[in-house]
Amino acid sequence: MNLEYFYRQLYHWWEQNKRELPWRDTEDGYRIWLSEIILQQTRVQQGMEYYMRFINRWPDVEALAQADEQEVLREWQGLGYYSRARNLHKAARQMVEKGTPSGPLSRGERVIFPQTYDELRALPGVGDYTAGAIASFAYNLPYPAMDGNVYRVVARLTDCSEAFDTTAGKKLFHQKIEQLLDREQPRLFNSAIMEFGALYCTPSLTDSETGACVCERCVIKEVCEGYQHHTAELLPVRKPRPQLKDRYLNYTIYLSEQDGEICTLIHQRTAKDIWQHLWEFVLEESENHVLALHKGTPYVDINHVLSHQRLHARFAICRTDRLPQIEGTRCVRLSELDAYGLSRLTLKALDQLRATAGF
Ligand code: SF4
Repeated sequence: MNLEYFYRQLYHWWEQNKRELPWRDTEDGYRIWLSEIILQQTRVQQGMEYYMRFINRWPDVEALAQADEQEVLREWQGLGYYSRARNLHKAARQMVEKGTPSGPLSRGERVIFPQTYDELRALPGVGDYTAGAIASFAYNLPYPAMDGNVYRVVARLTDCSEAFDTTAGKKLFHQKIEQLLDREQPRLFNSAIMEFGALYCTPSLTDSETGACVCERCVIKEVCEGYQHHTAELLPVRKPRPQLKDRYLNYTIYLSEQDGEICTLIHQRTAKDIWQHLWEFVLEESENHVLALHKGTPYVDINHVLSHQRLHARFAICRTDRLPQIEGTRCVRLSELDAYGLSRLTLKALDQLRATAGF
């Protein structure tokens, strides 16, 4: 491929089309790290809201490290994949504990944010992609940042039909991006190719206004093998998806009035499973279906899909004079629930119950 031509065209496109995003006008490693963790599995629009909230509340590593894990989970509420928030917090604490190269932080001293690929890669929750993104965006180091958009563009540019999400495929795509990477301007290259995949070389390849294929007007079609060989629309290739596991969750929302306040029981999930450390109502998990209820019991059913599991959840309300004694649960006022980190499923159920059951 004529790399000079490719870079020129791609950078010109970037200048004309890039979005102004708050984490783009900074070289602050902390801010870039935060944005990259939030944006994993999250749309930019939604991520922006969370990013601004986190930055306003915890403007630097030291502030984040001082936060309580529950506070961080609460701010994260609704984004899903809560291990990202736990790792973010854990990494901030590790950085503060590690201090500076000359020893622990003394009063008024600041953390030196990791500045090499290997140091970044060693942080909890930071994989190859995130380490490459921070290394290039913050320090202009020559590492690729292969997100889903970049895999797609590279598959099409090089007409590669190897599944990109297998071990062999990842290795092959890594070699390909290493050959394409602009080592003199890695920050610009990674920003431009990611944005190009996000906005132009999209999965559908169709112009949202006209419905026409965007390849005909693409600025790099001359060097795109997928376009030349008419295979672009079939790329990239994924390995077959594993079957989702079905789980049946039966929640009981006990409600009881105590001293003029409605109280309920919640417990914290501690097992190494989904939603570790989050809080939820009293749960009974069943085998093949959700459990039947007494006639007239108010409830909502919600189906919720996670990356490997399909959850069938039933939330039933049980009004009672006295809350039962259930080991591991905590009695809280309904009005205090917002102070606890709750899963997105529980939040959805609460929304529906508020609308239908006068919650
Ligand atoms: S020609 Fe089509 S497939 Fe190739 S890079 Fe451009 S938009 Fe993507």
